[in-house]
Amino acid sequence: MENRLICIGCGAAIQSEDPSQPGYVPASSMEKEQVICRRCFRLKHYNEVQDVALTDDDFLKILNGIGNTTGLIVMIVDIFDFNGSWLPGIHRFTGGNDVLLVGNKVDLLPKSVNHNRLKNWLQQQAKSLGLKPIDVALVSAEKGLYIKEVMELIEQYRNGNDVYVIGCTNVGKSTFINRIIREGTGEENIITTSYFPGTTLDMIEIPLDDGKSIFDTPGIINHHQMAHFVHKKDLKLITPKKEIKPKVYQLNEKQTLFFGGLARFDFIKGERSSFVCYLSNELQIHRTKLEKADELYENHKGELLSPPRKEDLTNFPEFVRREFSVKKGKTDIVFSGLGWVMVPDGGVVVAAYVPKGAEVYVRDSLI
Ligand code: GDP
Repeated sequence: MENRLICIGCGAAIQSEDPSQPGYVPASSMEKEQVICRRCFRLKHYNEVQDVALTDDDFLKILNGIGNTTGLIVMIVDIFDFNGSWLPGIHRFTGGNDVLLVGNKVDLLPKSVNHNRLKNWLQQQAKSLGLKPIDVALVSAEKGLYIKEVMELIEQYRNGNDVYVIGCTNVGKSTFINRIIREGTGEENIITTSYFPGTTLDMIEIPLDDGKSIFDTPGIINHHQMAHFVHKKDLKLITPKKEIKPKVYQLNEKQTLFFGGLARFDFIKGERSSFVCYLSNELQIHRTKLEKADELYENHKGELLSPPRKEDLTNFPEFVRREFSVKKGKTDIVFSGLGWVMVPDGGVVVAAYVPKGAEVYVRDSLI
């Protein structure tokens, strides 16, 4: 086999022809023993991201490749952004291989959340999306919670075969793999991790003791995530880093909540009740009357209602409104990548506004 040079940061094949493509290194740096591509170099030293292309087609090719081999698929989702981090149609690409579903970032959910219930919830959600995982696990890759348990499950279900770790970008796949490597070898931060969706390229092979390997696949960029509509600096603000403190709002009908200037929630019709907001603790919530909401948004977006920042407003998509008639209680209105609002009682009408291109979902309450 040809001996390809691979970036030790992201796993992309090193090349010195095209700076806009993955793995670019200026020719003068090619001599070094351990090569890191210019993109990872910048990310590491300047915390600056460069956009490179990993098309959906490339990702499908990788998935098809996995479906044609035998191995355990470990699919990682972000518990905080479950719907936004799902890989649509994944059940069609597994090729009969078992899937272990891992919900990462469990540290973000309030401590009161029952983890067994959460696993059942994950199992049910997966089923309703067409996937029947062999098992479901929770983990916090960053805090190291349940890592040993997941490693044991992987060992149990892989039946001596290879392991493919897949997931949409930003679910914490690199952090997870780094953890596994660290548990196994004591080396730190081998794979690039970052806030920016789309920073892991090509497959990285991590050898296991029995001659088999764990393969880290690149993540597909989920175009519906809120991450794509905010300034990179604001992404830190909307991406929760710590346990979410739910904020309870007693609302009467005809009241509105703004989540920064990124999303809006209208309580249109129903009895006064307590809506619970699960969002990054840093994101400001503003309450107003429904009749004043349009005007408030027009006059204060980019200022009182931010992010987005004022200078980014020209590129910020207009809001799209969706109305929901919520029949039963304990339903979540999910703003993909931003969080969700738990509607406690049925028989209410609400509306959700998100920037055009972002997604809103309704689901059975997670908590
Ligand atoms: P990848 O694109 O899937 O490889 O994701 P990364 O590993 O680069 O992680 C994306 C972001 O999620 C980074 O900001 C990580 O710090 C964060 N992250 C990863 N794992 C966890 C976790 O278990 N808990 C929390 N709170 N954040 C995490």
